Amino acid sequence: MPLLVMKFGGTSVATLDRIRRVAKRVGREVANGYDVIVIVSAMAGKTNELVGWVEETSPLFDAREYDAVVSSGENVTAGLMALTLQEMDVPARSWQGWQVPLKTSPVHAAARIEEIPTDNINAKFAEGMKVAVVAGFQGVTEEGRIATLGRGGSDTTAVAFAAAFGAERCDIYTDVDGVYTTDPRISQKARKLEKIAFEEMLELASLGAKVLQTRSVELAMRYKVPLRVLSSFEEYDPNAGTLVCDEEEIMESNVVSGVAYSRDEAKVTLVSVADRPGVASAIFGTLSEAAVNVDMIIQNISEEGRTDMTFSCPTNQVARADRTVQDARDKGLINFHDIVVDNDVCKVSVVGIGMRSHTGVAAKMFDALSAEGINIKVITTSEIKISVLVDRKYLELAVQALHDAFGLEKAG
Ligand code: ASP
Ligand code: MG
Repeated sequence: MPLLVMKFGGTSVATLDRIRRVAKRVGREVANGYDVIVIVSAMAGKTNELVGWVEETSPLFDAREYDAVVSSGENVTAGLMALTLQEMDVPARSWQGWQVPLKTSPVHAAARIEEIPTDNINAKFAEGMKVAVVAGFQGVTEEGRIATLGRGGSDTTAVAFAAAFGAERCDIYTDVDGVYTTDPRISQKARKLEKIAFEEMLELASLGAKVLQTRSVELAMRYKVPLRVLSSFEEYDPNAGTLVCDEEEIMESNVVSGVAYSRDEAKVTLVSVADRPGVASAIFGTLSEAAVNVDMIIQNISEEGRTDMTFSCPTNQVARADRTVQDARDKGLINFHDIVVDNDVCKVSVVGIGMRSHTGVAAKMFDALSAEGINIKVITTSEIKISVLVDRKYLELAVQALHDAFGLEKAG
């Protein structure tokens, strides 16, 4: 029997009525001849409420109990979805993570999936079950404790099940109807993409396009699981949404497929550090030990054996970064004269696999920004991405200018 994985996010299962609506879609795929594994999130807002309860009860909470509490939201939806399907005469049952069992690493609140044995669920399919409704976001550690996969983790659960069971496709139902060339709230010309390559989606997800958890895209790319992102609020259409797939399946790739941004960035410069082997390693080693999420790094030109070292990180990590480097300086581990922080920058990036085979993308990007009088503060590039830091007040303008410059409003 061909198998489909269908994942429903919190807004798609927010009320009993919505659960009934999406259960009909599941029923339709069963009628189309599929066995279905449904992965559900908690009802919209539930996980936040549970996290709030944990924090109020115990600010320095035991992460194992955090997981015990926050994983419960998905259990409720899984049971309700199974009941709804049964009411529609679709043979279904719910599965909590430990019942599968979905085995995870012991890192509570940020666990990784280690193994998904297929025997238990397949045995039930063989007995006539048509739909396995699995609670997303959760699994069980070797010690037998419940562990969760980090916020947004149900996407990763869904892709992992699709890989483990060799599903034909993994459909991720959400409240947007696909992946856009940029955030439609910023550019009215944003257009839904019909297809996007795994690598591009990975860049967009890690740059803050919040449609999919980054790890789910990594997993889909590794196991070549075609993903479809679509809305559960629109009428049924077999070609709806955006297909995230292998680049070979995209005939004519765009040079640039999307413009992404991340609003709350900061630029930190350590002024006058010694320019000799081991210095960068000492600075960034210390920052990484303190779990500061450093993104872009530039080392300036050196004069008389001293140089400036600049990096970017999210604004809410600046205080920690500052304390970390000051402490390291006090301990004599690193040396700099001054630290200069610019808290008012944002990052804007263009992404596209076509960049591998086309030149001139960077020049075009810089040209479009300069035509708007936007000063570029830091630049980094990868094979399929160019990112710049600019003043935050130019975010909207920069995104719109780049979207226009690369002609993204045209159908691709
Ligand atoms: N309910 C969890 C969260 O809100 C997991 C998920 O929905 O993906 O993060
Ligand atoms: Mg989500």
